[in-house]
Amino acid sequence: MYISKSFIPILKNNPSEAKIKSHQLMLRVGMIKQSSAGIYSWLPLGFKVMKKIENIVREEQNKIGAQEILMPTIQSSEIWKESGRYEDYGEEMLRIKDRQNREMLYGPTNEELVTDIFRSSIKSYKSLPQLLYHIQWKFRDEIRPRFGIMRCREFYMKDAYSFDISDDEALFSYNKFFLSYLKTFKRLDLTAIPMAADTGPIGGNLSHEFIILAETGESKIFTDKRIFDVDNEDTKLEKKSLENLRKKYEQFYSVTDEKFNQEEFEKKVSEKNRLKTKGIEVGHIFYFGDKYSKPMGGSVDLPGGKKDFVKMGSYGIGVSRLVGAIIEAKYDEKNEVMKWPISVAPYDLAVIPMINKNDTSALEKANKINIELKKNNIESIIDDTDENFSSKIKKMNLIGAPFQIIIGKQSDGELLEFKEIGKETKKINLTQIIKIIKEQKVKN
Ligand code: ATP
Ligand code: MG
Repeated sequence: MYISKSFIPILKNNPSEAKIKSHQLMLRVGMIKQSSAGIYSWLPLGFKVMKKIENIVREEQNKIGAQEILMPTIQSSEIWKESGRYEDYGEEMLRIKDRQNREMLYGPTNEELVTDIFRSSIKSYKSLPQLLYHIQWKFRDEIRPRFGIMRCREFYMKDAYSFDISDDEALFSYNKFFLSYLKTFKRLDLTAIPMAADTGPIGGNLSHEFIILAETGESKIFTDKRIFDVDNEDTKLEKKSLENLRKKYEQFYSVTDEKFNQEEFEKKVSEKNRLKTKGIEVGHIFYFGDKYSKPMGGSVDLPGGKKDFVKMGSYGIGVSRLVGAIIEAKYDEKNEVMKWPISVAPYDLAVIPMINKNDTSALEKANKINIELKKNNIESIIDDTDENFSSKIKKMNLIGAPFQIIIGKQSDGELLEFKEIGKETKKINLTQIIKIIKEQKVKN
C-alpha cells in the first residue's frame, strides 16, 4: 500500500481532547473517528488491527471447541422480562420502540438471547456440553464514556456461553475458557493476570477478570507479584490439568478493589511481593449456574429420565478495547514510537525510500522489493511521497509497523538498511529480511 493512496489521516500534533496515550495515538494516526459521544467509526488502520485481534480471539475459542454463531444487536424486551433483568439493568440499557410500539433494546450482553436459542433446540444431556460464542457490537449507555474506545458506548465484544449438565462439568467449561483467555492475550503479546472478581449485574458466584497492568487503567488491583511467573505451557485441555492451572494462579492473592481486604492482603502476601497498581480489564468470565436457565426454562433430560436446568457460564473479551490496551502497553509516547506486536500489526513492514523530484530510483527499488514481499505474504506500507526523511520516519514510527526498510543514498547493491523498531539498524539483504519477518510471524 502506498501512503499517498491510503486513508490514514495523520495529525501533526496530539489532539488536545485525548487524555491517555491510546486515545491520543488512535486519533493522531486516524485509526478511529468519533461520530457522537462514545460512538466511533473505525478507519482502515484501526479496523485492520481490530480484525486481526478478532481473528486471534476466534481461533482460540475454536481451539477449545466453542462454536461460533451470530446473534443480532437488537433484542426483544420479552426475554429480559423472563429473566427478570429488564427492570434491573437500569439506564445503561438503550431501550427502543419499533413502529408497532414493541419494546426492543440494543443488546448490552446476550445471556437471555442465547438461553432462548439453547432452550428451543437442545433437549438432552447427550448434547452437552455446548459452548457457543459470537463476536458482535454491544451498546451500554455508559454515564461517562471516555478514553476513546476504552470506555465507549458502542463496542465490539466476544461473548461466549457454556451449557452443562452439572456444576462439576460447568467448572470444566469455565476452566477451558480460563486457559483460552491466557493463550489469547499471550498471542497479543500482553500479560493478563486473572483476578478474583465481583459478578455484578451478570450474577453468580465465581468470576475472574483478566487485567493488563497500566497506569491509565480504571481497575484498581492488589496482587502478589509472584503471579506473573505462573506459566500455562504444559496445561492440557483435560479436567485435572485445567484444575491445576487455576490452582496455580489462585494460590496467589490477586483481586480487584471490590474484593479487596487489607488484612487479608497483608496476611497472605509478604511485603516484598505486594503490588498495588492499576490495570485495564480486557476479559471477564462468570459462572452462574441456573440463574438464567431456571427462570427461562432451559432444561434438559437427565440419564435417569428426570429433568434439570442447565448450568451456565458466560465469558467476555473486549475486542475493541484490546486495541487501546495494546497501545497502552506498547506505545512510547515520549519518543512517539509505536510498535505493534507482529500478530496484529496493521502492516508487517514499512518501506521508506528517499525520493526527490529528479531521482525516483529509490521508489523503483521499493516497488521491486514489494513484489518479493508479497510473494512471501509480508504486507508492507510504502512511503511514496517526497517529504523529507525525518518526517517520513516520524510518520512510520506512529503507524507502528514493527519493521522498517530504509532505501537511501547509502543502500547500494543488495544490502538494505533494515531495522526492527527499537533496535539497531542492520545492513542485510532482502532474503535475510524476509526470513527474519517470517520467523516472527510464525512464532505468533
Ligand atoms: P467495566 O468494568 O470496564 O465497565 P464490565 O465489567 O461492565 O466492564 P463485562 O460485562 O465484563 O464488562 O464485559 C466484558 C468485556 O467487555 C470487559 O472485560 C471489557 O473488556 C469490555 N467492555 C465492557 N464495557 C466496555 C465499554 N464501555 N467500552 C469498551 N469495552 C468494554
Ligand atoms: Mg467485567
